[in-house]
Amino acid sequence: MSVLAVADHRRGDLRDVSYELVTAGRELAEALGEELHVAVVSGDVESFAKDLSLDGVDTVHTVDHGEEFNHDVYVQAVEALDSALEPTVVLMPNSVNGLDYAPAVASSLGLPLVSDAVALEWDDGLTATREMYASKVETTVEVDADRVAVTVRGGEWEPTEDTGSPAVEAFDLTVDESRVRSRVTGFEEVAGGDVDISDADVLVSVGRGIEEEENLELVEELADALGATLSASRPIVDNGWLPKNRQVGQSGKVVTPDVYLAVGISGAVQHVAGMKGSDTIIAINTDPNAPIFDIADYGIVGDLFDVVPALTEQFR
Ligand SMILES: Cc1cc2nc3c(=O)[nH]c(=O)nc-3n(C[C@H](O)[C@H](O)[C@H](O)COP(=O)(O)OP(=O)(O)OC[C@H]3O[C@@H](n4cnc5c(N)ncnc54)[C@H](O)[C@@H]3O)c2cc1C
Repeated sequence: MSVLAVADHRRGDLRDVSYELVTAGRELAEALGEELHVAVVSGDVESFAKDLSLDGVDTVHTVDHGEEFNHDVYVQAVEALDSALEPTVVLMPNSVNGLDYAPAVASSLGLPLVSDAVALEWDDGLTATREMYASKVETTVEVDADRVAVTVRGGEWEPTEDTGSPAVEAFDLTVDESRVRSRVTGFEEVAGGDVDISDADVLVSVGRGIEEEENLELVEELADALGATLSASRPIVDNGWLPKNRQVGQSGKVVTPDVYLAVGISGAVQHVAGMKGSDTIIAINTDPNAPIFDIADYGIVGDLFDVVPALTEQFR
């Protein structure tokens, strides 16, 4: 028996959540007294296996088939790995890819599926924490089954960085091509080559405190000076001042940068749901009681029209 974590990658890069899955998997494996196996399916599996040779991983299984994510290949790969390893827990990312194949895998294997878990414990069975109603309510799910499939929310576990020395094994998968009914024909960047804010290390995020579209230039200059990417709260996107793919939050993107600088953002639950996993949160707001200060590591109570140009000057 073991814990099996399935890594996530896109366009040649392992996604951050892969390293977080290792941490979640290691914690469960320790609680269960079982091994942690990590699987990587498709892409440059040899190079991914090197990156996934991390502390606490016992074996990395490489499934060399195709370049990019494919629903039908992933379903078959995880089914076959499950049959070979019979893991107690199958951990998958709660990413676009993970949400695509995890329900199909759980259904075909007859496993209960807990989606979007933010904490996991094993004590005579799995207990998972999930959030509901835009993160206003936390629920505890006790799973009454010997084996379970789980998707794990990105940014909730620390990524594992320490290297280890797991065995790396090529997993022999014979794909039933008649079950492969889709293929990736290419990638199209949203909004004409705009950036992916979920990949950024430093985000400068702007909210309604900026007042007018022409004032955005102020925060763009700060982002430039910091080498940061510009993101926004929903009102800025609703106003059409920035494209939708820059929106952070429940109905936008979940981001986990090293630094998140919130400029004129109040910290509504729907916004916080998308950025609370950031390593360091800095907030600039005139209102000392703004909820953003409840989760900020550093706060500046002040007028952004004074503070932002001063910071830009400092970092140029
Ligand atoms: C179903 C649903 C989904 C949603 N999804 C999202 C989502 O994905 N992302 C999201 O962001 N929101 C989302 N919202 C909206 C959310 O509830 C808030 O309305 C929104 O986040 C508020 O954005 P804001 O903080 O920019 O604006 P406000 O709440 O208006 O805050 C502006 C802040 O700027 C400060 N300020 C004003 N002037 C200055 C100044 N000169 N200097 C410094 N500070 C100043 C104010 O004190 C205030 O705290 C959603 C809402 C619903 C109902």
